[in-house]
Parts: sequence; C-alpha cells; structure tokens
Amino acid sequence: MKRLNFFGGNWKMNHNLKTALEFCTNSKTLNWSAKEKEVVIFPPAHLLLPLKKDCPLSVGAQNCYYEDKGAFTGEISAQMLVDEKIEYTIIGHSERRSIFKEDDALLKQKILKSLDKGLSVIFCVGESLEQREKNEHFSVIESQLKAALFGLQLSDASKLVVAYEPVWAIGTGKTASPQQAEEMHAFIRKALADLQLDAESIRIIYGGSVKPSNVKELMQNPNIDGALVGGASLKAVDFNQIVNY
Ligand code: PEP
Repeated sequence: MKRLNFFGGNWKMNHNLKTALEFCTNSKTLNWSAKEKEVVIFPPAHLLLPLKKDCPLSVGAQNCYYEDKGAFTGEISAQMLVDEKIEYTIIGHSERRSIFKEDDALLKQKILKSLDKGLSVIFCVGESLEQREKNEHFSVIESQLKAALFGLQLSDASKLVVAYEPVWAIGTGKTASPQQAEEMHAFIRKALADLQLDAESIRIIYGGSVKPSNVKELMQNPNIDGALVGGASLKAVDFNQIVNY
C-alpha cells in the first residue's frame, strides 16, 4: 500500500502578518513537489485566511472546538473552518494537552466533529520523558489512541493522520532515533488495526525536532509517512528542504 507522504508545518504561536507573507513570497520561489506529497502549514488562527489567499501551500488550523457556535470565548469551531474552506486541523498537540489541559474525552469530541464536518485531522499522540524512562511509552500511546479513536467509523482513511510526537523530543533538539520512531510507528499501525481502522492506509507521521539534517534517516523507515515540524517550518527554505528530503 503506497501512502502519500504528509508534511505539516506547525507554526505554533509564531509569525505575524508581515513575516507570514514573507514566508509566502519565499515559498513561491521554491519547488514543493506538490504532486507526490501533501504539504500543509498550520499558522496561528488570525493568519489562516491571508495565508490561504497568498501561500502556495495548503493551510490548516492548529486546533478547533466541537460546538458549532455560541458562547465559547476564544474558540474557533470546526464549522467555522469549513465555512472558510480550511481543510485541515491538528487535534491533541502535546501543548494543548499539557498547557491547556485538554483531556482524552475532549479530544475525542473534537476529532469526531472535525471528521464529521469533512476536515482532515492530524491527531497527535506522544509520551513524556518520564513515561519513556519507566518503559510505559507503548501503553501510553495505546491508551491515547483507544481513548480518541475507539468506535470511529472512518469512511476515508486519508482524512486521518496520526502524528507520533514524543513530548521529550518537541522543541528540545532531541530527536527520537529512526529505530525508536519506526518501532513506535509500527506499534501504532498495529493498534489502529486493532481498532478496526484501515491501518495500512492511515498516514503515521513523526514529530519532534525534525530538521533538514535528520529527516532523511527518519523517512527511510517503512512506517514513517512524513513529519510534523515545529521550529524548522518557520522559514520556507528550511521547511522546503525537509519536504524535499
Ligand atoms: C511540534 O510542535 O509539533 C514539533 C514537532 O515541534 P519541533 O519540530 O519544534 O520539535
């Protein structure tokens, strides 16, 4: 089964309109091999529409809420994204889980609503350093996957991307070794099959200090279908080197 590689650039809370538009201008001078890969940037919410208009890459949201509208100050709904023809959202990034205390039950509601509305979901899972040191990483990931995806009826497997992002590798400069990443990706694929999902078609991407210098080694593994990139996606040239590893 040939899966289309997926590369996401998670800008987190970085860039303003001026610097984001500079990213777009620079992007236009680069070749993104768009035909063989799906490439999406995830800017802060206020930059989604200007980038959708000006950037040669697809854009997606870093988060969204499951209620359609109403008294939810500070939130943007899946429906609002769809209304503006935004096609992707990240759900469950470790910073949402740890800083904003989003739990498994909330994430499940967000995933179900987003998929129901037709969005593609990049669902993040990952263990902490403490959990890995205690050898709990497989059970932690299994439990995050089960909590969010149990009972899911997925009509189009290309709409769900699972991002394995070990928390100890995010923004730390420490990358999981290609062996550690592949071992976990194979485990995730088996767990998806156990959840009766089309595991061979679902993309599983790696995130955690991916850079132009380490992406190739990671991508050589059969179960690694792309990357979610934070810091190294802020500059078009760096992100482009990763995409064209
Ligand atoms: C991320 O935020 O999803 C991420 C992987 O960040 P970084 O690449 O900076 O580690």
